[in-house]
Amino acid sequence: MSDATGLLSTVFGFDQFRPGQAEIVDAVVQGRNTLAIMPTGGGKSLCFQLPALMRDGVTVVISPLIALMRDQVRALQEAGVEAGALTSGNTEEETEYVYAAANDGRLKILYMAPERLASSGTQAFLQRINTTLIAVDEAHCVSQWGHDFRPDYLRLGDLRRSLNVQLAAFTATADEETRAEIITRLFDGSDPAVFLHGFDRPNIHLRFESKDSPRRQILEFAAARKGQSGIVYCATRKKTESLSAALNEAGHSACHYHGGMEAPDRRHVESRFQREDGLIVVATVAFGMGVDKPDIRWVAHADLPKSIESYYQEIGRAGRDGAPAETLTLYGPDDIRLRRTQIDEGLAPPDRRAADHARLNALLGLAEALGCRRQKLLAFFGEESEPCGNCDQCETPPETFDGTTAVRMALSAILRTGEYFGAGHLIDILIGNKTDKVQQRGHDTLPTFGVGKEYSRNEWQAIFRQMMGFDLIRPDAERFGAFRMTENARPILRDEQKIELRRDTIRRAKTSRGPVV
Ligand code: ADP
Ligand code: ZN
Repeated sequence: MSDATGLLSTVFGFDQFRPGQAEIVDAVVQGRNTLAIMPTGGGKSLCFQLPALMRDGVTVVISPLIALMRDQVRALQEAGVEAGALTSGNTEEETEYVYAAANDGRLKILYMAPERLASSGTQAFLQRINTTLIAVDEAHCVSQWGHDFRPDYLRLGDLRRSLNVQLAAFTATADEETRAEIITRLFDGSDPAVFLHGFDRPNIHLRFESKDSPRRQILEFAAARKGQSGIVYCATRKKTESLSAALNEAGHSACHYHGGMEAPDRRHVESRFQREDGLIVVATVAFGMGVDKPDIRWVAHADLPKSIESYYQEIGRAGRDGAPAETLTLYGPDDIRLRRTQIDEGLAPPDRRAADHARLNALLGLAEALGCRRQKLLAFFGEESEPCGNCDQCETPPETFDGTTAVRMALSAILRTGEYFGAGHLIDILIGNKTDKVQQRGHDTLPTFGVGKEYSRNEWQAIFRQMMGFDLIRPDAERFGAFRMTENARPILRDEQKIELRRDTIRRAKTSRGPVV
């Protein structure tokens, strides 16, 4: 799979697979006939595009949606892939490019509307240009009983037989009848590899907490699960060592693991974890790729993961045996700042950076969610679901309050001070604290000075954190910690939109004795 992982990042710009993708890509690369059922938005196209780049010849993609084909072709071409489409919407130039690229053997991916299959020359053409894989998008269109029946899809079985090549079919429609019909019509009833997983892992309990005193929170979580195998993920190597020491001191059997360790030491930890019951590994994300232990009972994040995909993958290491497993994810303003800065200061091109911010936002949205966490998580991967009953928010719905006025006060403090300050100073202004810095800058004369006295400093911290979580404000990487307002905040500032905030995190912040940052 290492070729595939390399292409995933160099061509597609993703650093990891979405749930389910790796297995499907693997099967297609191995040459197996494949039927993959994945929710819309789950990332099906990658499952045929990536294998297409790893083989000789052309991959023909049959898709009923012209607009979608054109988008995908454009994206592939921008990524440097020789791809084209033959559709009724083509310009003459586009069609010429496709024929030229196909004739010189450069073309890797050819999109085609199913109607083309009716024309007599198509089959010969596909043969001549060395078609080695047929990928069928929206494969349920072959079902005569379905809503989207496309008669031309019925020709696909013939095409596969006469070209005698591999076929990979994709759909989001999972019902059993449709599946059976796809198998009959596209694969002659022979056995394709079928991938049908929703993304839900219902046995994994989901829980998030804001960081009050992270070490205590992790120790308490582990203490309640003494003797069970677990993983604690940390953002830094140093922290894996100190937290592992703290866990050992508390009477657990723990060891640390990170990419800076010598290979034999790492292997030693891996094999101990595999063999022993009840070992806790405190690790960076370097730990996990090769870990295949079915009875990991819990996964805790001492720091916020870097994206919603990472979160899903990391918690997904728990409970592979299907028995109940638990997770705890801690997050605080420092994490958000760190992750934003990593993205902003990374070398990725601007559009990729925007996408990374969006993936982080999705995770923060999950952390600050007011409803069922699993529903939000699955929705991100395109799967609809009911409230799960197995997450902290289903169990104890958070108390909320109308935070619109508080948020507007905070935004006003940010804007009136030129988007130049971090939470500490802004809170001094809001609660009317005449510090030296406030007086030197003349901020005690601002209309915002002292307007937020009804909330304590800790409550304001929680409000700012939630504002970051909702991506209303972002710390500016260039001006360390200074908040900038984002476009998302504008409707609230203009009083066109209301915002609900959680009260429980605020109360917790107030009673905590640990540093709230
Ligand atoms: P589908 O065809 O299943 O509805 P797409 O193939 O259009 O879904 O993918 C949905 C979205 O997910 C696209 O925006 C795509 O860029 C994104 N995506 C796909 N694979 C990954 C990945 N491994 N990491 C991050 N984003 C991905
Ligand atoms: Zn739930």
